[in-house]
Amino acid sequence: MSEADSTAAQSADRRLYVPHNDGWNAIVKPNATKEYCYYRNPDEEHFHLLQIGEIYIEKGGEKVCMNCAIRQGILTDNRMHWQQPKRSRLTLPDAF
Ligand SMILES: [Zn+2]
Repeated sequence: MSEADSTAAQSADRRLYVPHNDGWNAIVKPNATKEYCYYRNPDEEHFHLLQIGEIYIEKGGEKVCMNCAIRQGILTDNRMHWQQPKRSRLTLPDAF
């Protein structure tokens, strides 16, 4: 519960952006076919299964879940990312 609470507090804005949006597509997994995220969590040995109805992004054959995409810097919740193309994860107290 505390983990969910802190996550919600840190990012109440649920909108996500792809700073380098060449070739990436957002997909809602339409079936239960076994497909795995391209990346693994740092503390895990296995590739995690993408669930039916899960939103993930894809480029070529590379499927990436939201968690990994954010961790890899493919996605950002920084709405001002286009003003800071080189540092998408930089958090400023207030732009300008
Ligand atoms: Zn993943």
